[in-house]
Amino acid sequence: MSSAEEFDVVVVGGGPSGSTVASFVAKQGHRVLLLEKESFPRYQIGESLLPATVHGICGLLGVSEEIERAGFTRKLGGTFRWGSSPEPWSFAFAISPRMAGPTSYAYQVERMKFDDILLKHSRKLGVDVRENCAVTEVIEDGERVHGVVYTDAAGARHTVHARYVVDASGNKSRIHRRAGGERTYSDYFRNIAIFGYFEGGKRMPAPKQGNIFCAAFDEGWFWYIPLGDDLTSVGAVVTREFADSVQGDPAEALARLIAKCPRIDDLLADAERVTEGVYGQVRVRKDYSYSNSRYWRPGMVLVGDAACFIDPVFSSGVHLATYSALLAARSINSVLAGDLGEEESFAEFDARYRHEFGLFYEFLVSFYDMNSDHESYFWQAKKVTNFADSELAAFVELVGGVASLDGAFVDADSVRTRFQHTAGELERSVAQVDRTGGDDATALYQSEIMGSVMEQGTQIQVHAALGNDLDPAEALFSGGLVPSADGLRWVASAEQ
Ligand code: FAD
Repeated sequence: MSSAEEFDVVVVGGGPSGSTVASFVAKQGHRVLLLEKESFPRYQIGESLLPATVHGICGLLGVSEEIERAGFTRKLGGTFRWGSSPEPWSFAFAISPRMAGPTSYAYQVERMKFDDILLKHSRKLGVDVRENCAVTEVIEDGERVHGVVYTDAAGARHTVHARYVVDASGNKSRIHRRAGGERTYSDYFRNIAIFGYFEGGKRMPAPKQGNIFCAAFDEGWFWYIPLGDDLTSVGAVVTREFADSVQGDPAEALARLIAKCPRIDDLLADAERVTEGVYGQVRVRKDYSYSNSRYWRPGMVLVGDAACFIDPVFSSGVHLATYSALLAARSINSVLAGDLGEEESFAEFDARYRHEFGLFYEFLVSFYDMNSDHESYFWQAKKVTNFADSELAAFVELVGGVASLDGAFVDADSVRTRFQHTAGELERSVAQVDRTGGDDATALYQSEIMGSVMEQGTQIQVHAALGNDLDPAEALFSGGLVPSADGLRWVASAEQ
C-alpha cells in the first residue's frame, strides 16, 4: 500500500449527490478528492428532475448553461391517470406562484449524460476525481472518522486521510453503517420496479409532450418518461403483493404488465423495446424506500441515496440527493472555515434534510392513498387497517400506524395531525380537478404541503439567481442557522 495522501474532504461516489457536495466544497477553496468505482458515463435510473435541481442547484454550481446545451427534453409538469378521475389530469410547474416565470420547467435526462456533466464540472472546479476507484474501508479511531481505503483499477490499495468523509455511494453503499446508524426500510412503500426503454413511443400533445406521465393500474402504476424525440423510459412499480408479476424473464414480465395498463399499451402501440446497448436490458429494483437513523457522525456524513430514498412517483430522488449535498457542503464549509462548531453545523444539516425527506414522505403517502379505487386490488391491499368509520379516517389511522412503525422516517404525532390536513387538502384538490374537466391540478399544486415542499427549492433557485443580493433568509427552525450570502455556508440568523 502506498503512503497516505491528505485531503480536506474525500467524497465516495460520483453520482449527483457526490459531484454536487464535492463541487460546493471545492468552490470554497478546500482540497477535495472524489472516488468513483465505475468509469463515467455509467447507467443510472432516476431520469425525471424537478426545477429546484435544474435551476437552483445547477445554477449555484454554475453548470446551468451546459445542461441547457445538452438538449434534454423540457418537462413543464406531470400528467397523471391517478385518483378517482378516470381521465388523466395534469399540473404545470408554472401554476405554482412560487415557481412561475422563466424557470418553471425541469428536464427529463439520460442520467449517463447528466451525471457525467456534473462530474466533469467538479473536475473544472478543482476536485481531484478518480474513476475506477472503489472505497473498501472507512478509517476511524472510535471517536471520529479520519479517511478511507480504496482500491484502484490495477487492484492497488491506497489510504487517504481527510477531515471529512462523505458517503455519496448511493443505494448500494457498503459504508453507510459507519455513520453509526441503521437503515430502516419503509413498510408502506415496499414496492418493486421493473423498467426498460422503447423507441417510437407516442407523445402527448403540446405543451405536455415533455411531461412525465404516471398511470395507475390494478397492480401498481407506470411511469412514461420521454427522454428524447424517439427514446422513452417506461417502468412499472408494483407492490410486494404482486411480486409474482415480475418473476421469470424480466422482458416478458414488463410486456405482460404493459398489456394490463391500456393507456401505456396505447402509447407504445407502434414502439419497439430497445434490446441492445445500455438501454437494451430490462432491469428490476426493489428495497429502495428507506432512511438511515443517523445521517452524520464526527468526521462522516451521508448524502443522497446513501442516506435515504422514498419512491419515484414525484421525482424526489435527485432533488433530495443534490439538496442534501448542498446542506452537507454548507456544514463542512462552515466547520473548515472555523465559523461554527461541528455539532451546531451538522445539526442544521440533519434537521433540514429530515424535514425535506419528511415532507415528501407525508405527501407521497397521501398521494398514494388518493388512488383508492374500490375495484383495484392494488389499492385495497394498502388498506391494512380494520378501522371502518370512513375512508379518510381509515387512512389517517393507517398512516398513524405506519408512522409509528417507520419511526426513522417521521414523528408519529406530527404526522397524525398534519395528515388530517394534507389528506383533506388533497381530496379537495382532486374534487376540483374533477369539476374543472379533469385536466387541471391547480389546487393540488397550491396546497400547503406542496407549497412547503417547493419552498426550499425556490430559496435555492433565488440564491442561484440573485447571489449576494438575496434578502435575509429566515431560520427554518427556532434558533437555527441560515445560509450565508453566497449560499455555501451557515450563519446565525442575526448575522445576516
Ligand atoms: P447514485 O446516483 O446511485 O450514485 C452513487 C455513485 O456511487 C455511483 O456512481 C456508484 O458507482 C458509486 N459508488 C458506489 N459504491 C462505491 C464505492 N464503494 N466506492 C466508490 N464509488 C462507489 N429520482 C428522480 O429524481 N427522478 C426519477 O424519476 C427517479 N426515478 C427512480 C426510479 C426508480 C425505480 C428508483 C429506484 C429510483 C428513482 N429515482 C429517481 C431516484 C434516483 O435514482 C436516486 O435518488 C439518485 O440516483 C441518487 O443519487 P446519488 O448520487 O445519491 O446516488
